[in-house]
Amino acid sequence: MPYKDECGVFGIFGHPEAANLTYLGLYALQHRGQESAGIATADGEKLRVNRAMGQVAEAFDEQTLGGLPGHLAIGHTRYSTAGESKLENAQPFLIDCAHGQIAICHNGNLVNARELRDELVRNGSIFQSGSDTEVILHLYARSRAASVEEAIVESIAQIRGAYSLAILTKNRLIAARDPHGFRPLALGKLGDAWIVCSETCALDLIGAQYVRDVEPGELLVISDGGLRSIKPFPQQALSHCVFEHVYFARPDSYVFGRSVNEVRTDLGRILARESGIDADVVVPIPDSGVCAAIGYAEEAGLPMKMGLIRNHYVGRTFIQPQQSIRHFSVRVKLNPVRSILEGKRVVLLDDSIVRGTTSRKIVKMVKAAGAREVHLRISCPPTVSPCFYGVDTPSRGELIAATHSIDEIRKYVEADSLAYLSLAGLRQAVGAQQSSYCTSCYTGVYPVAFPRNEQAYLQLALKNVD
Ligand code: SF4
Repeated sequence: MPYKDECGVFGIFGHPEAANLTYLGLYALQHRGQESAGIATADGEKLRVNRAMGQVAEAFDEQTLGGLPGHLAIGHTRYSTAGESKLENAQPFLIDCAHGQIAICHNGNLVNARELRDELVRNGSIFQSGSDTEVILHLYARSRAASVEEAIVESIAQIRGAYSLAILTKNRLIAARDPHGFRPLALGKLGDAWIVCSETCALDLIGAQYVRDVEPGELLVISDGGLRSIKPFPQQALSHCVFEHVYFARPDSYVFGRSVNEVRTDLGRILARESGIDADVVVPIPDSGVCAAIGYAEEAGLPMKMGLIRNHYVGRTFIQPQQSIRHFSVRVKLNPVRSILEGKRVVLLDDSIVRGTTSRKIVKMVKAAGAREVHLRISCPPTVSPCFYGVDTPSRGELIAATHSIDEIRKYVEADSLAYLSLAGLRQAVGAQQSSYCTSCYTGVYPVAFPRNEQAYLQLALKNVD
């Protein structure tokens, strides 16, 4: 799957092991970002931060965690959707200003970051990073509001787009979610400690109970006085990211009130109803195609078998070989199981086709392993538009479905047949009113508009991924 994930945020209030639990929580959110990781803690007096490039295990050791005392903490795993992959852009960001120290972690993308940044720079702000998140801190630092809380509300009121935030002051944890609810943010409890996190799988890992989701447009202020909910922003139409269910979130999480595993299995069931075909075996492209393949196989009455094996040890450091031996790049990640595929009519299940190059290599590989027919089934509609709300997708020109018909794509990937889940099928699987989900990458219709030249700016910020 060529999409890079977005970011994972975690926050905890009221636990003596706040840094250690945040470290564990970030492990559970590692799939949402592998470029950098960071933790900030507060002990009632002072904030401290540690950030490093790489995955959580590489970024922290006993010594660095030992240097983060306090009963409050926030943490972040990052994949860059705006701003380059470098340490300056790693989160949490920590600043000291007239309102005192503050640290912030952000999942999502702001659509008016460039506009706000230009204005702030004109008024003398000096930015340390290329990240849209830093804009929020500058707005906060410039606020003349009387209290920390009012200054936070005032700064968040100016940003637009997708944000799930965990904010730390010396004695408060503040969680905020944009009024559209693009990205998930869950609230949990571990004894007397409160936790906020991108996905409920992080609560499971540390033995915490899920309480509820932070609501779209809600600000939760957690302090020694307890938990307080405020809703300072006007209500907006909901736009939960449907791609969280299709691909991003872990199947063991609950996102937007639904089990990801259930939704993903339903995507497969509905796909089988919509475009079933005579075949012998259903084979997922691991790992992301597995849940949908289970649903497809159940509905079609076919066996599901692991006809492709993923090498889990191919890390970010994999060096692309020269052109002459490049075809190994898919092989190093996936290898076919000849005993399952030989002589079979195979339904190959994946969760998307982006450029088509990887799908083409996989179809070829499955055929070379002896499959008689390969029927490619995709558990979401064709991806025709990029995301501007925090998911790193290639630009429109690189999305094969934006410029090619389904039959052209089928020919290109050399499959015997190709079918995608319909948009109606996707909406049925998430079980939602049409209006409560964002489906822009499948429709090109965007729920939050881009001011001025923001679209071009974000397009530039999007990285080309393979
Ligand atoms: S455009 Fe696609 S990936 Fe982006 S928020 Fe909407 S549904 Fe999610």
